[in-house]
This record gives sequence, structure tokens and C-alpha cells, in this order.
Amino acid sequence: MKNKKDETTKNLIVRPPVVTILGHVDHGKTSLLDAIRHTNVTAREHGGITQHIGAYQVEVNGRKITFIDTPGHAAFSQMRARGAIVTDIAILVVAADDGVMPQTKESIAHIKAANVPMIVAINKTDLETANIEKVKQQLAENEVFVEGYGGDVVTVNISAKTKAGISELLEMILLVADMQELKADPEASVEGVVIESSLDRFRGSVATILVQTGTLRTGGYVVIGKAKGKIRGMVGADGKPAKEAGPSTPVEILGLESVPDVGEKLLLQTAVLSAKKDQEITKELAERPGLELLGQPERVEIRIIIKADVAGSLEAISTAIEALETETQKVKFIHRATGEISESDVMLAASTKALIIGFNVKTSIAASKLAEEEKVNVRVFNIIYELLDELKEGLEALAKPKITEEVLGKATVIALFEAKGGKVAGCKMIEGAISKGNTIRVKRDQEEIGRSRIKSMRHLQEEISKTTDNMEFGLVPDAKLDFTIGDIIEAVKIS
Ligand code: GDP
Repeated sequence: MKNKKDETTKNLIVRPPVVTILGHVDHGKTSLLDAIRHTNVTAREHGGITQHIGAYQVEVNGRKITFIDTPGHAAFSQMRARGAIVTDIAILVVAADDGVMPQTKESIAHIKAANVPMIVAINKTDLETANIEKVKQQLAENEVFVEGYGGDVVTVNISAKTKAGISELLEMILLVADMQELKADPEASVEGVVIESSLDRFRGSVATILVQTGTLRTGGYVVIGKAKGKIRGMVGADGKPAKEAGPSTPVEILGLESVPDVGEKLLLQTAVLSAKKDQEITKELAERPGLELLGQPERVEIRIIIKADVAGSLEAISTAIEALETETQKVKFIHRATGEISESDVMLAASTKALIIGFNVKTSIAASKLAEEEKVNVRVFNIIYELLDELKEGLEALAKPKITEEVLGKATVIALFEAKGGKVAGCKMIEGAISKGNTIRVKRDQEEIGRSRIKSMRHLQEEISKTTDNMEFGLVPDAKLDFTIGDIIEAVKIS
């Protein structure tokens, strides 16, 4: 019998596992990511430099593994805060000389909460002070039971420094992945998660998407939370342009009109839409729960209702949250009280667009149900550090980068020459000064027609690094710029 399920599952293919590395600071997470990358990344055409886009892929025995390139539980919890669990397997790194430390414990809590299978990598086994058995014992004390200690959690002894055990770890990842039967449909409609995003001075809004199902293609139109746009170009983790990206593939996309938040979901890709349709789709997506973490992004004000177990912790949390405030990030307490999270709290939050934070309290069943209906964000914590961490990330994600440009100097183009290095603009200073490190923008009839960094500047025969008043000089830009006599050149400081 042919039913819908058959149709949606017929194109399933095995997809690469997505791996995140967690553990205590200095236990070797970054070193491990580097060691894996350098021993296994296939594409090194770019003179050994592989681009950082927030994730990378390696090939082991002809199979791919995707690594999230931001170690630690901050990124992990930020994703989870938005309901996006992209990780299939977590690697818990524990240094063999140091053993289980506070952030190891936190990582364990995060991994367990996300219900993700774990592999323990016992690192720094090259050190004389390494004590592997002690680490295993300590893990057992923290309810991670490894082989030989009453459980079946896989451990691999490694050294990120000597690279011992790295290939064994990679093989173990594939083995654990096989047990999970990770599959996805590359023909399905696209879903993905933002794992890194930024506003690039030259390229505009840039976001790395980890594709979960379907295939992302250039030229398609995408909507990610409030950000939308046509994909102008894509760059793979190997630094090469990509035309498409299938399940478990990280890819950087260009062309969004604004910067989406990390953890936000890409839910749609269509051909170019009419403006009206576009609005409808944006509206439909905006109404889905969980797309907006906190309050109203434009104001970067976060409204909070706190419910805590006792007055003492309520006070402590309030003070700590207030300390997160900055010029641009404001916190407003709508309500603070002790006791469980009730329906009345949820209604209050819904009407004031507030976030509910619970500390060591429960949420009544009715309140949970109502929160779901009203799309109210309720976060309950037992560790104050986690609460603050998540809030801080939320605030930072909201405080979208704002770029200001200050004009440092102005000149006008009075002559043009062709030289070895490209087109040279003969300029005359109007005001201020232009220095070699500056970015210049070229204006014609008040409109910006291009920008570039300065490659070199010359006055008479001499190379100069800064202009003086009324100076006439030659300017060679880094990028190809189509100067004409009469154009205005402005040197700007971008901050
Ligand atoms: P992270 O904070 O967990 O990302 O840790 P790092 O990767 O930055 O490593 C912290 C320090 O430990 C660095 O000085 C590394 O060189 C060192 N380190 C990492 N792995 C090893 C290892 O396997 N053996 C030894 N001896 N040192 C290591």
C-alpha cells in the first residue's frame, strides 16, 4: 500500500554524522579539532588554509563525518535553546592528567539533556602524569559508565599532540553512527540550522547552514526567521564555491538581507517569489513557535519573569541578570516571585512578550500547555551559571552588529593612468587624510559605486602611507574599481 509515509521515506540515504566536541577548558578540544582537520581534510588546494565556516567535513574510509568547529557547550546550548539539536554524536574530551573538572560535569549534563550518544576521548595520554583509570573512575562518579566500569560508554585514549588514537576515534564515530542509522532525504524540502552568522564588511550577511534534509541550492530563495533573501553564492567548508549542499553538509550562504541568529532554522527554499507571496511566507514562518528567542530584537530589551524556589535565589539571580545589562542590552523584570510557574505567569508573559525563567522550580502541566499554545518561552534551570550563560548568548545574539563608518579623508579623482598593478587614480586631497590601511569608497553623483582597500599610494616617485593637506597622489586599489575623473574618494573607518 502506498501511503504518505512511503512517499516521504523512499529517497532516504545514509547521511554523515554530525559531531560536537565538548569538555573542560584546556583539555584539548581545539587541539583535537585541529588534529582531525589536518590529518583528514581532503581539500587543501588553498595553500594549506582551509576556511573557517563553523563546521568542516573529513573523510574516513570513504565516508564523511561533519564536525561542528565551535567547541564547548556554549554553542551546543545556544542551539538547544532554540530547539535545534544538530549534533548526532558528542565527544567528551577529558584530559588524562586533569580528570573530570567542573565544565566536564556541565558538558555531561548538556549531553545527557540532549539525549545524544557520547564517546569519551581521554586526551593528553602522552603525558607522564596521565592517569586513565582515574578518569574512568571519576566519570563513573558522575554517572558516565564506561566499559570496565559498569557501562558501555565508549572511550578512546588519544593525544591531540602526537595524534595517537585519532584514527581510532574517527572509526569509533562511524561505528556509533551506524548504530543510529542516520538517514535523510536529499529530495525533501530543505531544512537546516544556522551554526554561524556574521555581517561581513565586504560580503554582507553571511550564514553557515548545516543542511538537515533536502538539498540547498544557489539561486533559491530562503527564509530564516526574520532574515530572508536569494542565495547569491555558497562556499563549502573546503573554501570552494558550492552549487548545492545535501544532508549533514555545512555551507556558507551569501545574499541574505539581514543576519540570522545562530540556532535559527532555515525552513524554506523556493524559486523567486512575488513580493506578496514573500510577505505571506514570512508571516507564516514568524508565527511558528521557537523562531524568536526573546522579546523584540529591534529594541534589544529583554523582558523577564522570574520564578525561583526561595527568596534568596530570586535575589541572587536578579542581581546577576542585571549585571548583564549594557548600553544597548536592557533587561526589564515584569514579575519576580517564588513558587512554581503557573498559568497566570504564562498569560502575563504572553501579554508582555516576556520570557519566563524558572530556577529550581517546576512548571505546572496546565502552564506548560498554555505556554505551548501562547508560544511563550519558558526556560527552567538548576544551575545559575547555565542560566546566565544562555541569557548572555541570547542578548548577544539580539544585539545585531551595527556598523558605523566615519569618513577620515576625502579626495577627488583628477587623472587616470594604467600601471602594472592595475588602474591608478590620480587624486587630489579635499579634506582630512587618507592612510594606506583605510578602506576607500568611490562615489559618483553622491552614489557609492564601489569600495576597496588601498594597495598602495604614491606621491611623485615615492611610496607614501598617509596623505597631507592638498596633496596630489596616485592611488592603487586592491580591488578592481572603475574610476572616472571627478569621482570622490572617501577613506572610511569601519567600526
Ligand atoms: P581547549 O581549551 O579544550 O580547546 O584546549 P586546547 O586545545 O586549547 O589545549 C589546551 C592546551 O593543552 C594547549 O596548550 C595544548 O597544546 C595542550 N594539549 C592539547 N592536547 C594535548 C595532548 O594531547 N597532549 C599534550 N601534552 N598537550 C595537549
